[in-house]
Amino acid sequence: HARNTRMAEPQFYSAELNADARLRLRLERDLRQALSAEGGDELILHYQPQFDHHGRIHAAEALLRWQHPTLGLLPPGQFIPLAEESGLIIVLGIWVIRTVCRQLRQWSEAGLQNVTIAINLASPHFLDPGLLPLLDEVTQANGIDPRQIELELTESMVMEDSDLVRNTLARIHERGFLLSIDDFGTGFSSLRHLSFLPLDTLKIDRSFIQNMLEGPRQAAVVRGIIALAKSLGLQVVAEGVETQEQASAVRHEGCDLMQGFLHARPMPAETFALRLKD
Ligand code: C2E
Ligand code: MG
Ligand code: MG
Ligand code: MG
Repeated sequence: HARNTRMAEPQFYSAELNADARLRLRLERDLRQALSAEGGDELILHYQPQFDHHGRIHAAEALLRWQHPTLGLLPPGQFIPLAEESGLIIVLGIWVIRTVCRQLRQWSEAGLQNVTIAINLASPHFLDPGLLPLLDEVTQANGIDPRQIELELTESMVMEDSDLVRNTLARIHERGFLLSIDDFGTGFSSLRHLSFLPLDTLKIDRSFIQNMLEGPRQAAVVRGIIALAKSLGLQVVAEGVETQEQASAVRHEGCDLMQGFLHARPMPAETFALRLKD
């Protein structure tokens, strides 16, 4: 919009920009507060299960929500980009890792089946020398097997600073933590990365699943991704399965796990614990 703004309208333009900038500043300040010791319970993790073909819960993805004091429940799309730009993403990620590990201990103490929880991380985490020591500390403190933690990375973050990131990933993987590539097929897709990253899981982006029944070419793309993943020894998750037809199709093509609104939406920890029981 900025480029189209005429010189005759500078005041309108700057007023709009200011409102935008003010909201961002406010959200950044509020997020800092939410992350501080006085932040209370504003940040919440929901869990979306991943099902195998027998309908059993195999794992779940932790998805962040923010119960903002005046703006209501905010989805991650409304504050993760801000957290990335302001640098708060590191502290936010640490909060998520700690919260997931405490939760896993509680579920284990309650006698629930052991599940793996997938955590979304942003690129700065893999450049942070504190990541592996943190993972070691919180898993040991809570008596958690590293294989119960899966770190999701996106293809675009893998592009960055590949030597350092690759090294960090290798050490995390050696320790037994699982690594998955999220939203596969979108962004700066580079197949080259698949050959040298120590991955366990590939998550096919929702957009492919949603298009795969539109025609043989769309289905062929999904089939190709699955074949590639399988030949690399990766577990394959279909993201965004919304219909029975999509579920049948991805199962037919050999996907291992399904995550989508058809089976379950992201849910609070207590609800997820109930689902684990039955
Ligand atoms: P993602 O990692 O690809 O997570 C999956 C997103 O797809 C979630 O949106 C989930 O609610 C949604 N989804 C799952 N099944 C379906 C379906 O069948 N249909 C449709 N239309 N959507 C489905 P959500 O929770 O809004 O999260 C959006 C993104 O925000 C995530 O995408 C992830 O990139 C980011 N995110 C979420 N939590 C965190 C976090 O703790 N840290 C970081 N760094 N990013 C996070
Ligand atoms: Mg994810
Ligand atoms: Mg995804
Ligand atoms: Mg996504």
